[in-house]
Amino acid sequence: MKGVDYSKNKTPPDYKCSKCGATGVKLWQENRIGCCPLLCANCAAEIEKIDIADIDADGRRSSDFGSGRTDHIGDQLPAVPTENGVGFWAYTATPNEGCEWWRKLLTRVLIQKKPKKVSVKKSKKKNKKK
Ligand SMILES: [Zn+2]
Repeated sequence: MKGVDYSKNKTPPDYKCSKCGATGVKLWQENRIGCCPLLCANCAAEIEKIDIADIDADGRRSSDFGSGRTDHIGDQLPAVPTENGVGFWAYTATPNEGCEWWRKLLTRVLIQKKPKKVSVKKSKKKNKKK
């Protein structure tokens, strides 16, 4: 992992969802440093079987436990790379600038890669009757 500049709203090139390849978005990782694949919100939700429909721009959603908001998705926690690129911060040790940097990233993938072109033309039916 290359280093990251918290003052810039940019992600290192290898800050990438291991499942769908999404970049430039917030990523989550299981809370066991270094062992686990990076996941975007969508993929983390899929793996954890959690509905993240209400996730907001800060990457927070309604907590699974009582009231309040959380930036956890099941066992997946925000993955904040260290500035020197050596690894990731433990969740509780993440410096404020790191949290800020993560918060400013897009929460979810907006543009998904289009599936391979299928050469079937859609025949639109114009004969709609009302
Ligand atoms: Zn993903």
